[in-house]
Amino acid sequence: MERIKLAVDLDDTIADTTDEWVKEANAELGRAISKDEITEYDIYKVLGIEQEYVQAVYNRLWKEPHEIKLLDDNIPKILNDLMETFEIIIVTAAPGNTESIKGWLTSNRVRYDSLVKVVHASEKAELGDRIGIPIFVDDSPKVATDVLGANKYMVMVRQPWNARFIEENRSEKLVPVSSWAEASETLESISNTIKGI
Ligand SMILES: [Mg+2]
Repeated sequence: MERIKLAVDLDDTIADTTDEWVKEANAELGRAISKDEITEYDIYKVLGIEQEYVQAVYNRLWKEPHEIKLLDDNIPKILNDLMETFEIIIVTAAPGNTESIKGWLTSNRVRYDSLVKVVHASEKAELGDRIGIPIFVDDSPKVATDVLGANKYMVMVRQPWNARFIEENRSEKLVPVSSWAEASETLESISNTIKGI
């Protein structure tokens, strides 16, 4: 049986990028920002930091991504197991070049079927329509809005910046998860629904 296509985001879904961003920004700006304060997806809107600076730190992190850790230590095993049911397509707007992102995934033992780089988050749902992806795993409220608007499943990794979105957009197709173990269970159950089991 053909595997179900699954789009998986990279930043703050697989990679703990913003955790590293906070460390860098705190060291450089002499601040004590905690990730919990980032209650908007666009960091500059809550922390009073220039948008260009926010982006520059992310750019720098992905240029030499060895400092970035996995969001969850169980991700390599879980994705490996999910590959039996799903064709895993990592879809990311991360600023790193493809080689540095692939290098990071390999060094963290993350297996996947393909990697698609997009420039804007809005391209993710478009890709989903084009190649028929019924499920997305992502932390972005923007992506979630598009995905749910297209009547697809959104498995949302809980982060401080999507708590309000989750609260305000309860629906059968929006499934918030607090860990990858939970994501895995949810995905297997959605796959059974899709296959009509
Ligand atoms: Mg993300």
